[in-house]
Amino acid sequence: MTLQKSWVASANDPKHPFPLNNLPYGVFSTAELDPRCGVAIGDMILDCQRAEEAGLISLTEDPLFDVPFWNEVMEEGAELWSALRDRLTAILADGSPDRERAEPLLVPQADAEMHLPFLVSEYTDFYAGKNHAFNVGSMFRGPENALPPNWLHIPIGYNGRASSVVVSGTDIRRPWGQLKSPDHDLPAFLPCRRFDLELEMGAIVGQPSEGPITVDEADANIFGYVLLNDWSARDIQAWEYQPLGPFQAKATATTISPWIVTKAALEPFRTDCPEREVELLPHLKDTGPMLYDIDLSVTLAPEGKAATEIARTNYKEMYYSAAQQLAHHTTSGCPMNPGDLLGSGTISGATKHERGSLLELSWGGKEPITLDTGEERSFLLDGDTLTLHGECHGDGYTIGFGNCAGTILPALEDPYAR
Ligand code: CA
Repeated sequence: MTLQKSWVASANDPKHPFPLNNLPYGVFSTAELDPRCGVAIGDMILDCQRAEEAGLISLTEDPLFDVPFWNEVMEEGAELWSALRDRLTAILADGSPDRERAEPLLVPQADAEMHLPFLVSEYTDFYAGKNHAFNVGSMFRGPENALPPNWLHIPIGYNGRASSVVVSGTDIRRPWGQLKSPDHDLPAFLPCRRFDLELEMGAIVGQPSEGPITVDEADANIFGYVLLNDWSARDIQAWEYQPLGPFQAKATATTISPWIVTKAALEPFRTDCPEREVELLPHLKDTGPMLYDIDLSVTLAPEGKAATEIARTNYKEMYYSAAQQLAHHTTSGCPMNPGDLLGSGTISGATKHERGSLLELSWGGKEPITLDTGEERSFLLDGDTLTLHGECHGDGYTIGFGNCAGTILPALEDPYAR
C-alpha cells in the first residue's frame, strides 16, 4: 500500500496524519454548524450530514448522518462499513467527478470543535501490557510475584464508567479521595497527590453479540481504534483496590482522541502478538496477526511552557489483542453492544523511556523524571497538559489518530464545604 492521492492537497503530504488512506471518523461543530459526523481529509473535514443531504452519500434507505455520533453506522455492520469507506474514497480521490459538489462541504479543521465521536455505551479497561503489569507488580509485590497467577492465561479487566469518557481537549479536574499514607493509622479525605496518566489504545465494538464469541468473530466486530488516556489517581487506588480492583481511582475521567481510525485503515499495519510464555486455552488462542504497529508517544507541557516527550513506545508491545480481550469479555455470556469501549491497558515497552505511566517512569515517585524545562515530575501537577500521539508509518504515508490531550485543573477547595 502506498499513498492514495486526494484532490485535497494537504492530504498528500507523506507526513500528514489524515491522507486518503486514513479517512477517520469524528463529530465536529463550527460557529455555523451544529455537531455532526465528519471525515478528516488533510487539514479539512468532509461534512457527512450535508454530503448525505446533497445525495453524495446514499447507502441506506433512512439517513445515516442525521445524528451527531457514529453508532448508527456501526450498527449497520461490516458490509456498510466497507461500502461507506469505498464511497468516501471515491468522492475524495484525485480526479474524482464528485469534487465540484464535495468541495463546498469541506470545513477547515482549524475552525472546528471536536466532540465525542460516538455514544460510549459501556467502558471496560484491561491490564494487558506485560511490561506495565510487571513494573507495577514489582513495585507493589516485588519482582518474584509481579505478575498475578492468572495474568498469562486471561486478559485481566474491570468494568469502568462510560459516563466519565471525554474527548481530547477537555480539562481534567484533580480529584479528591480517601488516601491512606503508610505513616498514618487512619485514612484522610484529601486532593489526590499522585495523579497520573495511562497510555492506552481504545477499541470500539461496532457489532452486538449475545453469548461467547471467538477471537475471529471478536476481531470482525471491532469498528475502529482511538488513543485513550486512563487518568489514574495512584494514592486513591493504592488504598481502595483490594480486593475488588480500582474504583474511584479511575472514575474521574478517561480521555479519547477525537477521530475513530477504522480497522480498514489499520489493515496494512497488522502484526502478531508476542510469543506466548504459556499456551493459551483454545478459546483465546491467536488466530492471526491481531495487533497493530502503531508508534505511540506522550508529551508533558507545564503551564505556559514547552512540551517534553516523556515516553515513546508501540501498540505491538501488548500481550493480548483487543480481539482476545473482547472474546474473553463475552465468555460469561456478557452481551456486548455497538459503542462499547475497551481500553487496552497501559502500554509500556521494555526500556525506561518506553513506560506508559508516570508511576513507572518515576518508579513510584522514587526517581522523578526531568523535563526539558529543567523541572522534575513524579506525578502530574496542576496546569500540566498531557498529550498522547499515535502514528502508523506506511510506504510514503502516515496514519495518524489526532491528539489525545487534557490539562490538569486544581482540585476544588473542598467539595463538601457547602
Ligand atoms: Ca488503565
